[in-house]
This record gives sequence, C-alpha cells and structure tokens, in this order.
Amino acid sequence: MEPSQTFTRMNRSYIAEGEGIIRVMRPRLPTAAQLLPYLERIDEARIYSNYGPLVVEFEARLAALFGCGVIANTASSGTAALAGAILAAAGRARPASPFALIPAYTFTATAAAAEMCGYQPYFVDVDAECWMLEPGLLPAHPMIDKVGIVIPVAPYGRPVPQAPWLSFQAGTGIPVVIDDAAASDRLAAEPAPFLGEIPACLSLHATKALGCGEGGAILTTDEGLAAGILRSLNFGFGSERNSICASINGKMSEYHAAIGLAELDGWSEKLARLGAVATCYRRVMEAGGCTDRMVMMPDISAVYALYRARSETEAERICNNLRVAGIEYRLWYGAGLQSNAYFANCRRDALTETEEFAPRLLGLPMSVDLTPADIERIATAVTDATSSAPADHG
Ligand SMILES: *Cc1c(COP(=O)(O)O)cnc(C)c1O
Repeated sequence: MEPSQTFTRMNRSYIAEGEGIIRVMRPRLPTAAQLLPYLERIDEARIYSNYGPLVVEFEARLAALFGCGVIANTASSGTAALAGAILAAAGRARPASPFALIPAYTFTATAAAAEMCGYQPYFVDVDAECWMLEPGLLPAHPMIDKVGIVIPVAPYGRPVPQAPWLSFQAGTGIPVVIDDAAASDRLAAEPAPFLGEIPACLSLHATKALGCGEGGAILTTDEGLAAGILRSLNFGFGSERNSICASINGKMSEYHAAIGLAELDGWSEKLARLGAVATCYRRVMEAGGCTDRMVMMPDISAVYALYRARSETEAERICNNLRVAGIEYRLWYGAGLQSNAYFANCRRDALTETEEFAPRLLGLPMSVDLTPADIERIATAVTDATSSAPADHG
C-alpha cells in the first residue's frame, strides 16, 4: 500500500457515538456558577466589547501571569492574534516580498493568518527532533529576498526561543511573528527565554491549555508594536476614529474575557490535574516499555499526549488497535500543511523530515478527568501493537 493511502486511513477522524469511548480531548472550561460573578459585572456595566473593563482586567492579569515586562493584547481568536501581529509587524504583503515562510508542520491557522494579510504561504521543512524551523538555515534560503514575514511555530506548545529569531530579524530585516498558539502553559512556566520583543501569539481556544471558548492574545515587550497590534485588531483606529493602517476586527468581547478571567481563577488547579494525568501516563507506559516514545508536558503543552511510533507501519497498527478499543486519537497537524487540499499548490521546499515523522506522531487522549483505568486501556492498545508485532526497520 502507498504510504499516503495508509496515512489517509490512519488520519480519518472516526469514532461514532457509543458507551465507553475515550475521546481524544474533552476540554473543561469554567462552569456557569464560576462565570456568574463576571457576567453580573457585564450586566451592571452594559459594556459588551471594545476593550471594556473585563478585557482590560484580563489583559492586565495575562501580563502579570507571564511577566518579563510584556504587554498583553487580547484578540478574538488565535488566528486573529496572528493576523493582528503580522499586520503590525510587517503590514500587508507587498509585490516585492509576497511570501510568508511557515513551517510545514503546524495547524492550518498559521497559513490562514498569513493569507489573511495577503501573503503566499511558503512551506519550509522542520527539524526532526523539535519539529521547529531552524532559524540558522533561513538567511541562506533561496527565497529569502522575496520573504515579507517569517512565522515560526511552537509545535504542540514547545515554545520558540526569542534569541535566534531576534538575530535573524536583525540580520535580514525581515519581521518575525511567533505562533505560540498552544504554548500558554509552557510560557507561563518558563517565560524568560521565550518572551520578548518578537510578538508571541497565543490561542485561547477551548482545546488549548488556557481557554475562553474562542480567543487569543499577543505578548510583546515592544510598546510601539503592542500599540500597532491594538490598532490592527480594531479597524486601524488609534486614539482617534481614523483608520490609519491595515486592519481587521479582531477584538475580544467582554463575554470571552469573563470566561478567561474565571479560567485564570482555576488555572493552577487545572494544570495540576493535567500534570497528574501525564504522570499516570508515564507510569503506565513505563510498565509497557514505551515511556521513551511519549512526548508530554513539560516538553510540550499539558493538553497533549503524543506517541512517537517507530515506523509508519507501527503507527498504523496502533491506530487500528485504538479504533477497535473505542479510543479516539488524532494526528493533530496531519501530514503537514502541504497535505491539505487548499494548501497543496503552495510553494515549498523538499519536506523530507516532515513527511517522515508526521505520520508517526499520534495524539493520544488527554483531558483533566482521564482516569487511571482509561490510561491503562490506552496503554494496552498501544503496547499490544508495539510488542506483538514483527520488528520494523523504519
Ligand atoms: C490552535 C492553533 C492556532 C489557531 O488558534 P485559534 O484560536 O483556533 O484561531 C494556530 N496555530 C496553532 C499552532 C494552534 O495550535
């Protein structure tokens, strides 16, 4: 069978309804009771959007949470956060520099945000170990003279360090915006190497570690850039009602800020639960001799439990076992952006590493209330496929 056919079958999001199914992700956001005090403040103030008191408070709490002197701008989604940062850092694409360099291994939103700002996504291969762009290689990239923006991505929340990208920016004059969409918990745990002048864009989607349903944030220490991002997300308005730059409506509403504030109230508890689930995963996988194949917090965000299969054949066997056992899984970034129908015709480099590891990187279930019994079931499905099978040489 062609590897691509194998992959398509593996990646099919499958399991229907049924008893005992373990979902790949079951987000939990604040309850109605936890939201109520914040919603009552909205009723009282009768301000529903446009940087009302809850958004202002949420932004202040985010800035304090991450520290490092960052200014926090909120946005209506992680994608809007990226678009606002791209517009403020680089403006819309110009004919002389139409390309946005993007890692092939990411969620589609990275490329969608670049396109929103007029750029043509150009896919670059990533490092096989950390799944990130290699900043040192890019100044010599054959397309570099036509590049208007570079968007490194924090894959599964493994955060992108500022220093090499500051050097890249200084050396090439090309602006950089970091897609840290899934990295909120990693950045909060260790902010210093990862936050600075280059805007770090977070997603506050329900499935991310810090969630408010739909939302985003941009963190930067550069005051001028932060002011530009605010304008880009608010019709280009500065202090006056006069549009002075390329813009979108990317504002966060007071309702989403209410969820974000309540989420922050219970965040350390949520992270502790996810950490306990990760510890349980490690212990159970250890018994099956598979701990070293797991990638979890603190390397990546606590909402992901990844299994690195040794080969595509092993990955396929594991997926079959999981399906039979009623356990959902997901290849979160698929086989890379180039494998999406819409992005298939984008220009790109040879994507040797991405094509090699992407089909082997399986997203296993993760949620705050995954039980030890659930994890035993998952581990059995995985280890049965790894131990009973003939050795692979992939
Ligand atoms: C979630 C995610 C996004 C998009 O964020 P939204 O809030 O869903 O718009 C972008 N990039 C990456 C890497 C993500 O994981």
